[in-house]
Amino acid sequence: MYLSTRGQVERMTSAQAIAQGIAPDGGLFVPEAIPCVDETFIVTLCSLCYQDRAAAILQLFLTDYTEVELKSCVAGAYGSGKFSSPAVAPVVKVGEQTVALELWHGPTSAFKDMALQLLPRLLSCALKKIGEQAQIVILVATSGDTGKAALEGFKDVEQTQVMVFYPEEGVSQIQRLQMVTQEGENLKVFAVKGNFDDAQTGVKRIFSDQAFNAEIANDGFKLSSANSINWGRLVPQIVYYFSAYADLVRDQQITQGDKVNFVVPTGNFGNILAGYYAKQMGLPINKLICASNSNNVLTDFLTTGVYSRNRPFYKTYSPSMDILISSNLERLLYHITKQDSKQISQWMEKLNTTGEYHIGDEYLAAIKELFPAGWVDDVQTAATIDRVHKEYGYALDPHTAVAWQVAENYRHQTGDTTLNIIVSTASPFKFNQTVLNALAGADSVKNKSEFAVLNQLSRIIDRPVPPALAELEHKAIRHTAVCGKQDMPKVVKAAIHTTR
Ligand SMILES: *Cc1c(COP(=O)(O)O)cnc(C)c1O
Repeated sequence: MYLSTRGQVERMTSAQAIAQGIAPDGGLFVPEAIPCVDETFIVTLCSLCYQDRAAAILQLFLTDYTEVELKSCVAGAYGSGKFSSPAVAPVVKVGEQTVALELWHGPTSAFKDMALQLLPRLLSCALKKIGEQAQIVILVATSGDTGKAALEGFKDVEQTQVMVFYPEEGVSQIQRLQMVTQEGENLKVFAVKGNFDDAQTGVKRIFSDQAFNAEIANDGFKLSSANSINWGRLVPQIVYYFSAYADLVRDQQITQGDKVNFVVPTGNFGNILAGYYAKQMGLPINKLICASNSNNVLTDFLTTGVYSRNRPFYKTYSPSMDILISSNLERLLYHITKQDSKQISQWMEKLNTTGEYHIGDEYLAAIKELFPAGWVDDVQTAATIDRVHKEYGYALDPHTAVAWQVAENYRHQTGDTTLNIIVSTASPFKFNQTVLNALAGADSVKNKSEFAVLNQLSRIIDRPVPPALAELEHKAIRHTAVCGKQDMPKVVKAAIHTTR
């Protein structure tokens, strides 16, 4: 069963928690108890394909779903043709003591696919289980990656619609094309006149507008979110930690029982938190290393115990980690404090009113033991992309490069020689300008179209451009609507009736 981190909500089944998204008391849903596995479980995973590994792990958390339901969700998400690698999330040996766990072989070339391919299926199944009749309308404000991954994930999924709002001037050319060429009958994409904050504020306002919600409820619609606070987005991420470990055992790069480190480029703390659950379940993880860019709020928190968002915000080469409030940290704190929801509520209230909170030395010591942390700036990120390509012939996207460098710094500082698994969150082609610039200099990207940059990058790193990105050049534009931020409620209301 699932509880809220803030403690004011009755226990719920996982289907209820997934259908609700965020808990009504403002907290996040967490499992009442974390299931444990033994060695045999991990050994068994070694001979399974990714889909079966996923079903085995999901079953432990989503106990109100039947095996048939989970197998069907998993087959739809990771089955034939969806991911360009048959392994779905392959592990690639790069250096002597380093491997990369590639999470970007899905339809949008970034790690959000790992969860957003599965969440819509879990949600649609949950609606049936709890007898929800309403059509669920997913509203997404996006600065780039999440919008496209949500569109791909929810495309033609029963009883759901998805509406994405992106800032007209705020996304890269590739990201815009990925969204405006989106196919599917149950979705709409809008450019908002303004920046990401305008789009995000607009969506939040609609969510909290009671009159609006009552009105659409009358017509049989209900709003929901595909944000990483939904348990249905977190639980699929636990799978690839186990899967990576099972691959390494199967390929005899480690022996069953050996400990490994995972190094995770972190923004909202969702990815790395899934690693925490894996460790609590019994996966032999030594450290979960938290890597940040110049928005180093997590590095400071994990080293001092003070979380403070009162600091400048930087736009960096790794935009998916440009974040000052890491929502999923709340779940970690809940478990570390042994489910002290009063304490969590106080800290979150403090964060809301003063912009910071302090967890004290005892809790800090517990967290520090598990989560070493570090950060690197853009200059180091670019240098790492270049150096790793020269040394190993392996191309990193900027987010993964941050993790790579933090891992090296950690090894230097601590002498810890445990195998480092770098969690690779995006294809280098997704952030092609930054990567080509790092590898070939500023002139190589100057006045070039996105597609020219993609092609040149392909030649330099000797890998094909992912077909879904290459195809964008010739795809029909299907979504041209632009709206002012004040018009968003009107636009949503009109769209839900004209979308299937
Ligand atoms: C979303 C994202 C991240 C950050 O993941 P969190 O779960 O928010 O910590 C890192 N890299 C890429 C490429 C992403 O899209």
